[in-house]
Amino acid sequence: MSISINNLNYYYGKGTPYEKQALKNINIEIKNGEFIGLIGHTGSGKSTLIQHLNGLLKADSGAIIYNGENIYSEKYNMRELRKKVGLVFQYPEHQLFEMTVYKDVAFGPSNLGLDKDEIESRVVEAMNTVGLTSEIYEKSPFELSGGQKRRVAIAGVLAMKPEVLILDEPTAGLDPQGRDEILEEIHKLYQELGITIILVSHSMEDIAKYAKRLVVMEGGNILYDDVPSKVFKNYKNLEKIGLSAPQITYLVNELRSKGIEIQEDITTIEEAKKTLLSLLR
Ligand code: ADP
Repeated sequence: MSISINNLNYYYGKGTPYEKQALKNINIEIKNGEFIGLIGHTGSGKSTLIQHLNGLLKADSGAIIYNGENIYSEKYNMRELRKKVGLVFQYPEHQLFEMTVYKDVAFGPSNLGLDKDEIESRVVEAMNTVGLTSEIYEKSPFELSGGQKRRVAIAGVLAMKPEVLILDEPTAGLDPQGRDEILEEIHKLYQELGITIILVSHSMEDIAKYAKRLVVMEGGNILYDDVPSKVFKNYKNLEKIGLSAPQITYLVNELRSKGIEIQEDITTIEEAKKTLLSLLR
């Protein structure tokens, strides 16, 4: 699904003394199958923006066009949109409520009115994708570890077979291992299913490793929208808005300032390792 966000403006509490413009003339073009990292300090407008993408919030002005259709046009089917755009909220495990893991993941597809076999195949597929085995199907979601609960919640969204998957801080509160596993699984989804992924994070390290494009928000505006290596070149500006580039960016810049000829566009530890080893040889 291609998405075009045009001149989007949104105010909380419009017309009240508490009026706050959370989105300021946002423009983004997203191609089918892109993996986008959406970053910004708390309060920069990330959550507000993603809630527009499945119609939970409606812009005060501007348009969102999915596959050529404006979601604000009168005849647009918002229900269909919500099936196609899966939104995984922060701490999604807080929304688990069924007696068993299976029922929880089956909840969405059941609401789509699918038959039992289709529901089962979607549940099994979604669970496999997030690395959960059939032993836990009949367990209560509340017996699981934090990382497992999070996966169940993500599986529930995947079982809807979304064409666009938006994850709001999917690793928040997980230990480093749980964090890496979830990110690896999200990356696998992108590679294997070819769906469009928007990953909201405030961790540059996480995003640099997986996203092919970074959108940086600040105060309701888009500050940068580019490939990670180009965005990280602005690390001094990123620091000013409470973000930092991945640690490796600082190392690469330090080495370059000492006259070592290492490419500036290295953004991950793996790339740096390869380049440094070949320089040493
Ligand atoms: P982020 O997801 O980047 O942390 P948000 O989209 O949550 O940012 O917030 C953007 C701005 O809108 C912030 O200034 C925030 O205080 C404000 N805001 C968010 N939600 C509400 C709300 N329900 N009512 C009023 N203001 C809000």
